[in-house]
Amino acid sequence: MPARTGQQYLQGLQERERDIWLGGERVKDVTTHPGLRHGAEAIASLYDLQHDPQYQAEMTYVSPTTGDRVGLSFIIPRTMDDLVRRRVMMLHWARTTCGMMGRSPDFMNVSYAAWAAAAPFFARNRPAFGENIQRYYTYIREHDLTLTHSLINLQRSRSVAGTFNLAEDTALRVVKETDAGIVVRGARVLATLGPLADEIGVYAPRMGRMTEGHSPYALNFAIPCGTPGLKFLCRESFDVGQTHFEHPLGSRFEEMDCVVFFNDVLVPWERVFMLGDVGLVNTTAATTHSSNHTAHQGAAKNVAKCELVLGTALLMSHVLGNAHLPHTQERLGKLMMYTELMKACMRAAEADATLDEWGVMCPAQLPIEITRNLFSTAYPEMVEILQLLGSSSFMIRPSEADFHSPLAPEIEQYLATDAATAHERVQLFHLAWDIACSSFGARQVLYERFFASDPLTRAQFLYTIYPKEAMVARIRSFLGQDDHEAEALSPP
Ligand SMILES: Cc1cc2nc3c(=O)[nH]c(=O)nc-3n(C[C@H](O)[C@H](O)[C@H](O)COP(=O)(O)OP(=O)(O)OC[C@H]3O[C@@H](n4cnc5c(N)ncnc54)[C@H](O)[C@@H]3O)c2cc1C
Repeated sequence: MPARTGQQYLQGLQERERDIWLGGERVKDVTTHPGLRHGAEAIASLYDLQHDPQYQAEMTYVSPTTGDRVGLSFIIPRTMDDLVRRRVMMLHWARTTCGMMGRSPDFMNVSYAAWAAAAPFFARNRPAFGENIQRYYTYIREHDLTLTHSLINLQRSRSVAGTFNLAEDTALRVVKETDAGIVVRGARVLATLGPLADEIGVYAPRMGRMTEGHSPYALNFAIPCGTPGLKFLCRESFDVGQTHFEHPLGSRFEEMDCVVFFNDVLVPWERVFMLGDVGLVNTTAATTHSSNHTAHQGAAKNVAKCELVLGTALLMSHVLGNAHLPHTQERLGKLMMYTELMKACMRAAEADATLDEWGVMCPAQLPIEITRNLFSTAYPEMVEILQLLGSSSFMIRPSEADFHSPLAPEIEQYLATDAATAHERVQLFHLAWDIACSSFGARQVLYERFFASDPLTRAQFLYTIYPKEAMVARIRSFLGQDDHEAEALSPP
């Protein structure tokens, strides 16, 4: 089947029933639910882009199995050109949602492409699992499916060592193996895009920290979201029923986050990719380099997000007439710096890409990892800059209805600036509000802080992968301490 259209995607959601709960009620149809439907439409618009004559060539490639044109984010990149083409495609998607839907389908597609290429890794102890991952990758590519994922086990308490207390009986684990498959029970967070996905992938964070003895918890599998026993519990929707004028982002790009309950869910054997093997589960991301590829997708999202914030900030300062003030320029300069840094790291990761042992062209790890680390602190700061630039204008946001009320003449007269009509000004600040202050905007900040694990873990990861020895050797040489052998540095 060739790349899907938006209509085919929406139809798929309607046809496959699943157990989704929002506000105390079961959602019968996510494509019509007021809190979810606009998010579904946004994902549908991504699929439609694959058929837009202007974009089609850049959004799709020829399937190696069927000859159909399929989504380019499924490509297994073998050359630098493949990587660049894939990034161009991901950037089109990211820009379509202004970077507000971090879990657009490309996020998972690049993971499964990397895993299928590394099938021998999955087959290491159970040859069938290698075949399973390859077959599954081909299946989602040829059906152009959307996946959500949940990696984190719910915990009742946190140990100082950061390890899980599995005896809490909350973590997802295997309770039974049958001829048909494995039966799993437990709860996981946080399935972003859960209600809008066809399938859910379940595996472990890239900084796997399981230890021996945790094997019933060591899993990698994928199942349809409608599998019996699987339940999605949504947070409140940030699509609060406002118009595009009042909530330009929340009314379009609600991707939703869910807790997932697995009540004795049967996972068929052909959908199991790892089972009980702590060593493999812990090292999947590093060995298959899937985390380089997801970071590449994240970098495209970051660029789109930077462009949204910078563009909005520039227009705000123009509309308010304060662009000439030094402190405004200092703040805008910071947004420009983050935007250019993000693009530069993405390009560097492509330019320094190398083939891995699976023959996959991988974005260079350091620069692509930096895009993820930098953004967890840069994005909150960018949002703060918007708040500082906007000040009380964030509060001068009458609704569209006010422009048609008896107060309209006063609004038109007093809210206009030298550079903008009252309507243009208010429309712009509704957008700024949705980035910097609304519940939708606050969730975006939280997303950037945490979506790729907590900042502490990420900092530790960066410390671990950074080639520290060359730096130290240079300083030793400067100090005349040349008699030292090259040394491996480790924490004290
Ligand atoms: C908006 C959003 C979307 C997300 N989407 C997804 C998704 O699609 N799929 C998915 O699998 N996950 C998703 N996540 C979850 C994400 O992976 C986790 O939030 C992240 O791994 C952190 O785990 P946690 O929330 O349990 O944090 P916690 O472990 O509760 O940590 C909270 C804070 O406490 C600190 N802390 C915790 N333990 C220790 C310790 N022992 N010592 C010192 N400090 C400690 C952490 O550094 C952190 O600052 C999402 C999260 C958010 C916020």
